[in-house]
Amino acid sequence: MRILIVEDEPDLARHIRAALLRHGHEAEVEGDGTIALRTALRQRPDLVLLDINLPGLSGYDILAQLRHEKCPALVLMLTARGEVRDRIKGLKAGADDYLAKPFAIDELIARVAALSRRGGAPAEGTTLQVADLKMNVPQRHVTRAGQTIALSPREFDLLQVFMQEPGRLFARTELCERVWHHDRDYDTRMVDMFIARLRKKIDVGVGEPLLHTLRSVGYTLRVGAPSETSA
Ligand code: CA
Repeated sequence: MRILIVEDEPDLARHIRAALLRHGHEAEVEGDGTIALRTALRQRPDLVLLDINLPGLSGYDILAQLRHEKCPALVLMLTARGEVRDRIKGLKAGADDYLAKPFAIDELIARVAALSRRGGAPAEGTTLQVADLKMNVPQRHVTRAGQTIALSPREFDLLQVFMQEPGRLFARTELCERVWHHDRDYDTRMVDMFIARLRKKIDVGVGEPLLHTLRSVGYTLRVGAPSETSA
């Protein structure tokens, strides 16, 4: 993958870059937030590793601008350990995943490998449809009632999992596994955040709600609300 490392601690940035290069990635480092945003928009990397506290623009500002400009890059936020607020703020703003500092470099490499895999299994057809919600899988393009919906890479992957099996109930842990490939440290709150983001884009004010929550069980995509008792 082509990766932009946005990190203002030179030693850490160098260390990350060396490890990514060893694993066959292309990687560049930018330590200033303002320049990093320009570089990301110009180069359109596959993945941005994004620190939060930076000179110039903060990681949140960069993320917001990238998503505003519909930059399709995956974004992995580097957050402070234990700072749940940071994590939630990043996920709300459109990050695809996060990694808490300090992290082992192997953990970072594993997370990057997981991010580079597509979330949904290959679809049978190239187009999926549930009611008036349509997904062109190879083009990674989604519309509802003919209107294009801009999704971040992981939002797309999450929606694809649902659209491949409409009406099926998915537990949070399964979604975590299939979309983020996390095999441990399940963060079900992250799934909830992504569902909220997705719902805002595909359902709210757009048409009949398709994405349904079954309390303490999970989520399902279907036409018509499922009954809580039958779950
Ligand atoms: Ca920093």
